[in-house]
Amino acid sequence: MKFVSTRGSAPAVDIDTALASGLAPDGGLYVPEIIPAAPAIDPACGLAATAATLLAPYFEASRIAAALPSICDDAFDLPAPLHRLRDDTFVLELFHGPTAAFKDFGARFLARALGALRRPGDAETTILVATSGDTGAAVAAAFHRRPGFRVVVLYPDGRVSPRQAHGLGCWGDNVRALRVAGTFDDCQRLVKQALTDTGLREQVALGSANSISLGRLLPQAAYYAQSSLEFERERGEPLNFVIPTGNLGNATACWLARRMGLPIGDIVLACNANDVLPRYFGGADYTPAETRATLANAMDVGAPSNFERLRHWYPDDASLRASMRAVSVDDAAILASIERSDRDLAYVPCPHTATALDVLQRLRDAGDTRNWAVVATAHAAKFETIVEPRIGRTVEPPPALADCLARPAHSEPLPVDYDALRRVLLA
Ligand SMILES: *Cc1c(COP(=O)(O)O)cnc(C)c1O
Repeated sequence: MKFVSTRGSAPAVDIDTALASGLAPDGGLYVPEIIPAAPAIDPACGLAATAATLLAPYFEASRIAAALPSICDDAFDLPAPLHRLRDDTFVLELFHGPTAAFKDFGARFLARALGALRRPGDAETTILVATSGDTGAAVAAAFHRRPGFRVVVLYPDGRVSPRQAHGLGCWGDNVRALRVAGTFDDCQRLVKQALTDTGLREQVALGSANSISLGRLLPQAAYYAQSSLEFERERGEPLNFVIPTGNLGNATACWLARRMGLPIGDIVLACNANDVLPRYFGGADYTPAETRATLANAMDVGAPSNFERLRHWYPDDASLRASMRAVSVDDAAILASIERSDRDLAYVPCPHTATALDVLQRLRDAGDTRNWAVVATAHAAKFETIVEPRIGRTVEPPPALADCLARPAHSEPLPVDYDALRRVLLA
């Protein structure tokens, strides 16, 4: 199978090239030329086997096709339980990985796939990431102590939560955390400048692992396949999903699983006050906006990068708008949702998951009685400064997060100055 650019002016490439290069040379995002039907999957075999079967058609022509099952065994060695809240309401918990957020799944798969693609004698690859919190930690954890890789993470000093900063600095070894005296946009600009610096790239093999990476997107379809198949086997019905959404990576993976034929019903995007998608799906033009800071900070995105992929697959706006819905939730409603979920469902959500729970509540209020799964994208303990005051008690961190918090954390200061970053990368 070939992969093409959403912008249509770059040559089609094979999966191995698409995985290694991130962005296509014309600035577009790689998408599979056709979306294959899912092969037969037995959900009783578990998430890792489901992932290997689901991804096999994409990796048919890959150098690592034969290694795909073992890559999946290793990357998907995490629970992703469909936890029942009520007879018709579930949460798909994706926060049982090393950094307690769903990005662990995609980052772990990408790290293992890129590792398998290395050839003897290849130079060490530096994975460069800018992060506003969760992405950098997931990528650092996934590449930590992987031979042939080092990770350099840039994050805005003072603009991530103390626990998020700890989650970036607690790795050591081949991971360096740089706290930048600027904003997330400054971090992204510095990373982009390095990735397009041809002189630098002659001396340092650079790789990226941001949310447009196909190697993070594709594996995320696996937990939608697994949970919807398990649900269908038990109840004989498709499962509908509400998905906390920022860059649209997680929801695009769900859409992909549905397109491949899995028993997924409606997809509803839960957004915070950054409402570019709710406005678009409600009929307005697509108009990217300045990012607004909210309590669900991992969803603070004004220009969702994967939108370009969805648009690629539909001939016009009307058909794309018919494929899913999107709802915006403000901070006050996020806080109220945390309290309501704790009180009525005995479930403590992170602010992102609370956003989706609020959207589901609105559907219920409007009379929807179908089966819904809310996607729980992070553990509440990662956002304890927001959650604990609402519920009036502490939230215990899960073991992996507790481990990370118990280790010392170290970061290095970096000015908003490209030459300073260049020196770090060349050292
Ligand atoms: C990244 C993230 C999101 C948003 O996911 P996208 O794939 O960017 O839409 C939601 N919740 C949490 C906790 C995240 O870390």
